[in-house]
Amino acid sequence: MALSQIKSAPAQSCSACASALADLCTGEPISRSTALELIRCADDDLPALLAAARASKERFKPKVITYSRKVFLPLTNLCRDYCGYCTFRRDPSDPGAHTMTPDEVLSVARAGEELGCTEALFSLGDKPELLFPEMRDTLRHLGYKSTLHYLEAMCELILRETSLLPHPNPGLLSAEWIARLAAVSPSMGLMLETTNSALLAPGAAHDNAPDKVPAKRLRTIEDAGKQNVPFTTGLLIGIGESLEDRIDTLLAIRDLHDRYGHIQEVIVQNFRVKPTIPMAHWPEPSPGDMLRTVAVARLLLPNMNIQAPPNLSAPYYEELADAGINDWGGISPLTPDFINPEKPWPHLEQLRLHTEAKGFELRQRLPVYPEYISTVTSKPGLLSERLRAAANDLGLAKTETAA
Ligand code: SF4
Repeated sequence: MALSQIKSAPAQSCSACASALADLCTGEPISRSTALELIRCADDDLPALLAAARASKERFKPKVITYSRKVFLPLTNLCRDYCGYCTFRRDPSDPGAHTMTPDEVLSVARAGEELGCTEALFSLGDKPELLFPEMRDTLRHLGYKSTLHYLEAMCELILRETSLLPHPNPGLLSAEWIARLAAVSPSMGLMLETTNSALLAPGAAHDNAPDKVPAKRLRTIEDAGKQNVPFTTGLLIGIGESLEDRIDTLLAIRDLHDRYGHIQEVIVQNFRVKPTIPMAHWPEPSPGDMLRTVAVARLLLPNMNIQAPPNLSAPYYEELADAGINDWGGISPLTPDFINPEKPWPHLEQLRLHTEAKGFELRQRLPVYPEYISTVTSKPGLLSERLRAAANDLGLAKTETAA
């Protein structure tokens, strides 16, 4: 797909962007005002913006784009929140409502192990037992007090019984729960999504989503920082936020990372419309909008790992690689993307070809990025042993499976 086919430019004079690009200091993070100029750049300026972002990525991690070979474990799709863009969540009475049993967790993990996976990604709804008595019954039957207690036990099960490394995404966490999950997983994640609390208003994307209060999410990310826990976060674009909000969200992430140094990965995820969601008639961010956001994220965060999910931007894989990402995120050769089931992951061989077409080598990483491995292995125990066994000298997957 040629870049010239990607339309979308917001109106903006070329001269403002050209001057912002000309003012870029090599390797220095750009300012809020420069980011605002660049994210609004005209189509004619997009190639120069992408070139600047790619050059910045190459200064940070040259010649390579990584991915994590994973299995996706939707531990429970019950959730007490009702985000307007979500197709994952269910009420207990909805078709497809399901909480995985320990046997199901282990069976999927072992199948992934056979296929060379190194990450067990736990995705789940936020605190469903607070809203649904059915979930409280399920947890009682399983022998756990809460969804987080069950998640902790399943992370431990994965560690004990397989070579996979857990990476949980359970929603908001207290400092105590961050510590407990950090004992059984080398990294964890929580998407900040946006710092705009106006999206909690009636009719907006986070109407009836009590766990999406930006201040609460920032607190969880900060608590992880205080404990030096490798943490994945990111923004979700196209859910009603402004371009200023996107920049401010990236700056909030940058500020937390400057203070604690623990944010191992920033995901730039684009909203994709689905027929069954409350936001079924909302416009999606255009490919050009996504590329501008990724490129500006790279320039704002020149020394941080930036990921964009390839399945949500197909067929623009090569353009994303040009926009400054250094990671494709978790890709599964086994399980579908349960969050966006209508957008299958690209076949890994195809992703390798697209990556190489842009001059990069595709390498398999672990759920925890190489530069954070020593913070985990410095503590004794099973987690440390498993991580040492899984990592090579570069901190990537010791046993890389052919794409
Ligand atoms: S996006 Fe997450 S928090 Fe929101 S409804 Fe879906 S599962 Fe729940």
